[in-house]
Order: sequence, then C-alpha cells, then structure tokens
Amino acid sequence: MSSDNTAPLPPALYVVATPIGNLGDITLRALEVLRGVDRVACEDTRHSRPLLLHHGITTPLFAAHMHNEAAAAARIVEAIEQGQRIALISDAGTPGVSDPGAVIVAEVRAAGLAVVPIPGPSALACALSASGLPPGPVTFVGFLPAKAAARRKALTALAAVPGALVFYEAPHRVLESVADMAAALGGQRQCLVARELTKRFETLHRLPLAEAAAWLGADPDRLRGEFVLLIDAAGEAAPDTAQADGLMRVLLEELPPNQAARLAAKATGIDRQTLYRRALELKPDR
Ligand code: SAM
Repeated sequence: MSSDNTAPLPPALYVVATPIGNLGDITLRALEVLRGVDRVACEDTRHSRPLLLHHGITTPLFAAHMHNEAAAAARIVEAIEQGQRIALISDAGTPGVSDPGAVIVAEVRAAGLAVVPIPGPSALACALSASGLPPGPVTFVGFLPAKAAARRKALTALAAVPGALVFYEAPHRVLESVADMAAALGGQRQCLVARELTKRFETLHRLPLAEAAAWLGADPDRLRGEFVLLIDAAGEAAPDTAQADGLMRVLLEELPPNQAARLAAKATGIDRQTLYRRALELKPDR
C-alpha cells in the first residue's frame, strides 16, 4: 500500500469520486488531488464550487458535461500534453458511473496519457454494501429507458439475466418502473429500495417486487429524492416467514432486529439470516 502523498502529482487525468449526499464522504486522497491539480473539470461549476470551498480548495473549475464532452476531452488532452494535472469530477459519486466521463477517459487514454482513478462514493456500491445480498453475479443496469415501451422491452430482456440487478431511478419514474419490474421480472423477487443514501432521510426497505409500488405510493415522502433499486436473483423464492411474523412483532417491541431474529430462529427453525431480513421489514421505518 502506497502512502507517499507528499510527492507532486504527475501530469494525468485524475478521475475523482465525490460525495453522493453527505459532504463528509470524501477521501483524504481525493481532497489532496483536488487541491494539487491545476484545474478541475466538473459537470456544473455552480454545483461543485461549494463542495471544494467547503474543504478550503480554490483550484479553478471548468465545465465538462454531457453536452460538451467531446470538446472538453480535446481541451483536457491538450492540457495534459502540456504538463498539466486535471481532475474530473461529476455532480455526485463516481464519474463514468451513469455520469459523463467515459468519452474524456477514452480520449486521454487514446492519446497515450495517464488516467488515475481516485475511488470513493458511488450509489451503486453504497446500496450493495447495505443489501445483505449473498455473493454471486450482480448486473448494474443504471437508468432504464424513460419511455414505457422501451423500458418494458429492456426489462423483458433482463428477466433472463442470472443474479441480482441494480437500477438507478428518478423519483418521478420510480412508481412506474417498479410496477414494470414486477410484471417483467416476477413479483416474488425481493427488492431493496435504497432512497436518499447518506442523507437525512436515508431509507432502506426490502420487500417483494409485487408490493413495491403500493408501498412507495402509500406515503408521498417515500417518492422523494434519489433511488437505487436492487433486485435479488430470480429463483430464490423467499422462505415462508409468515409463521414467525407474530412472534417477531412481539420480540421487536423489546429487542433490536438481530436479537429478535436469533430468538425467533431458535423457536421456529427458520434460518436466522432470513428472519433478520424479515425483522428489518417488520420494524418501524427510521
Ligand atoms: N455517478 C453517480 C454514482 O457513482 O452513483 C451516479 C450519478 S446518476 C446521474 C444519479 C443517480 O444515482 C440518481 O438518480 C440515483 O438513482 C443514484 N443516486 C445518486 N445519489 C444517490 C443517493 N444519495 N441515494 C440513492 N441513489 C442515489
């Protein structure tokens, strides 16, 4: 593991991950790089300047967004060829993950110049880390098409994909999307709704896909903010935990979910991990 952070940065494109909501979620190395480069390319200077100023960083910013990415890439290649160090950030999370960045990175690499990833937050990794998904393949889909017909077609193709699926979704489309997912992927598949990760109203709620639209629609607050939807692998029908629900509800009045699940597992013989997930569903929302 290298820890030589005192050496000057060599000319390169530094692809830097930034917070997805909580300003504290930025690495020490990201701050050093943003401070040490000559310029920072960002989607929107008005959005990114407050983040840099929050950390006392005054490095000049310039715009590199989806509408000018090719032109920005040419400018960045030229700057690095002249010996500059350029950082690339997006509005939130990791550039290139459902965000601009791919064109710039490809052009810099094609010019034979160095690209240095500076890892950090991404809504994808954040949701996965809290999902409790068993090891196995995970397909990151990102955003589905906005139009209903194209979205349904994409989902139908995804029904045959083995393993878990991860989607990004916008608040105004999330209801239609989960309804289409239930129809195309199967209502029995478990869905983790991960909303407003790292923010004040962070919500992680797991339920069968068939129930997702009704749950989201039951409270307008549940439809606000940013969403990751994580769908469990097909063919793993959830074990029937109904027989333990009554007992768990009583236990959850007095105990945290892990202890309630442990006791209910002893009493019913259902596996503890399954009951722990069910306990998280039964306990009142945060
Ligand atoms: N580059 C980002 C990343 O690494 O996750 C993703 C950018 S993409 C334009 C924005 C989408 O990411 C949102 O619509 C939402 O689906 C997801 N997202 C970003 N921040 C989130 C958060 N705090 N909670 C839940 N989802 C989030």
